[in-house]
Amino acid sequence: MNTVQPAFEQLREQMVDRQIRARGVTSPLVLRAMRRVRREGYVPSYLGEFAYEDSPLPIEEEQTISQPYIVGFMIEALGLRGGEKVLEIGTGSGYAAAVLGEIAGEVYTIERHEKLASTAKARLARDGYRHVHVRHGDGTLGWPEHAPFDAIVVAAGGPQVPESLRRQLAIGGRLVIPVGDVQGLQALVRVTRTGADEFAEERLADVRFVPLVGVEGWHAPAREVPPRPRPSSISTLVADCAEPFASIDLVDLRPLLHRIGDARIVLLGEATHGTSEFYRLRARITRELIEHKGFTIVAAEADWPDAARIDHYVRDRSVPRGEWQAFARFPTWMWRNRDVAAFVDWLRTHNLARPAAQRVRFAGLDLYSMHNSIDAVLRYLDGEDPAAAAVARHRYACLTPYQSDPAEYGRAVLTGGYRSCETGVLHVLEDLLRQRLAQGREQDEHFFEAEQNARLVAGAERYYRAMYYGSHESWNLRDRHMFDTLRRLLAFHGPKSRIVVWAHNSHVGDATATEMSARGEWNLGELCRQDFARSVTYVVGFGTDHGTVAAASYWGGEMERKVVVPSRADSYERVCHDTGLERFLLPLRTPHGSELRGRLAHARLERAIGVIYRPETERASHYFHAVLPDQFDEYVWFDRSEAVEPLTTHELAGAPETYPFGL
Ligand code: SAH
Repeated sequence: MNTVQPAFEQLREQMVDRQIRARGVTSPLVLRAMRRVRREGYVPSYLGEFAYEDSPLPIEEEQTISQPYIVGFMIEALGLRGGEKVLEIGTGSGYAAAVLGEIAGEVYTIERHEKLASTAKARLARDGYRHVHVRHGDGTLGWPEHAPFDAIVVAAGGPQVPESLRRQLAIGGRLVIPVGDVQGLQALVRVTRTGADEFAEERLADVRFVPLVGVEGWHAPAREVPPRPRPSSISTLVADCAEPFASIDLVDLRPLLHRIGDARIVLLGEATHGTSEFYRLRARITRELIEHKGFTIVAAEADWPDAARIDHYVRDRSVPRGEWQAFARFPTWMWRNRDVAAFVDWLRTHNLARPAAQRVRFAGLDLYSMHNSIDAVLRYLDGEDPAAAAVARHRYACLTPYQSDPAEYGRAVLTGGYRSCETGVLHVLEDLLRQRLAQGREQDEHFFEAEQNARLVAGAERYYRAMYYGSHESWNLRDRHMFDTLRRLLAFHGPKSRIVVWAHNSHVGDATATEMSARGEWNLGELCRQDFARSVTYVVGFGTDHGTVAAASYWGGEMERKVVVPSRADSYERVCHDTGLERFLLPLRTPHGSELRGRLAHARLERAIGVIYRPETERASHYFHAVLPDQFDEYVWFDRSEAVEPLTTHELAGAPETYPFGL
């Protein structure tokens, strides 16, 4: 499914070397067995790409397939020499039974969930383990018909060692079992039958297993008995379909990665421009997309030249820089904050371990940096072609009077009879493009950056003129520019490139599902869905009920840490709040499909907080109508959330010259 995955054989060898042998499992029989069993055939197919990860994985019936190392460790502890008769309790996926099957003469394995037992049976038969026998039943009672056993291994944790299992051990036989009086936290114990009534017991390690449920184990959890009641309210339905998680660091993102599938464009939203949780979870998702799905570009709702500073730093490119300070424009906290800095540090470390051609790019999609972009184009031309630089300088001079207030430019052109600079900025761009063709610079990074800056100047020039007429036309120009930049990034980096976007919900959530559409506005998410096949884009929206947010009270104002008031009763946010869950992922496309989508499809209010937050006029300033399941493919919820922390001067002291947030 993923083209960047190494072959399974290679992963399996690596797993045995790095996870099993390196940690001290030395039995040649165990190592050989684990080199042979195709573990990818024992996990749910959608988790195949994670089969050789150093962790347990979820399987059906809320059970787990144990971490490979634990399987190796437990089987080694059985002290097998080959050819024995072995009993396993807790077949689960069937993986450990297959490993045992590589070593033992006969393997008997029991599983209490019928569905797991039958799936494991089919897998073991498929792989030719005819001497591995699977039974559905309560393993705490053992399998007396085939006793005694040379070894017994229990893959679930019980309150004590079941007496039936002790009795079914051969003299000299070993039983390895997790035991503990708290469900979930156990000691791994080895019992050796030294005589008819004599047993020696050793404690091997601290472990954590799913509960051993049965007559001589724990009682079945009560909720397994009555079927769940049908959801009554929409919030109950959302709670039922949601994937709650404990923390941003621990959330299991594998199901999300599976849903993202082969998408080439993943758009990650945010409901404010100043919420720490949104940044941190987007960073985690992005890291996984880079590491597991080969994503090559991170693009943010930031200006091209500012984001380029981050890019040069994370890819360690030495590019001469202008005198201006990056991310100095209002709202500075949007990118110059601790969460972004932490991600930037991670990306640099990730990149530096790789050759230049494999490093992940960081790019900006926005167009507010008219003057920094002019500066960048001129610098480029100064180095390449001083004559062309002189001409461009002359053409761009038309915009210089508006350096500090580009919006004033639009007013001056439209009402003051000031000459439009449109022709001039377009000529600079056209000259550059002609140069590219003439010199065959299609793959030249420096050229690409200069071209993007020239395009930005042209886009911004139009944007500021359009702004004078009202917001709709300028909004459309801005999102069209973001989309064109995204497309050019993908084209420049070739057919294998994949992009993650960090931008506000109002840019990434499909505009056709909101009020924006009626106003004649489109956005980045809509353009992506229109231009690429549906499976190519995956849009994730983010929301919150209450907490704090970094925002200003008016455009250009100081950053404040403002209280976010609890959501309105008629909003999607309230539906999420009423689930009673703190945080969750809510897949809207799959797998719950129609019922959830149907129930959520009646338009409700949704809240958008930007760089300005005015709780006093919240309904008018921040709420709009939307159809959430059409807007996003997935929705992420944080009931309570906190403001981002801007980077302080103090924190930046001593940062290297190339640090993008340097002062
Ligand atoms: N060896 C497995 C690990 C599965 S986890 C593997 O490699 O995938 C433990 C399994 O024990 C679960 O599938 C659980 O359903 C099962 N189990 C728990 N109590 C049991 C019991 N009393 N009898 C049989 N199986 C049990």
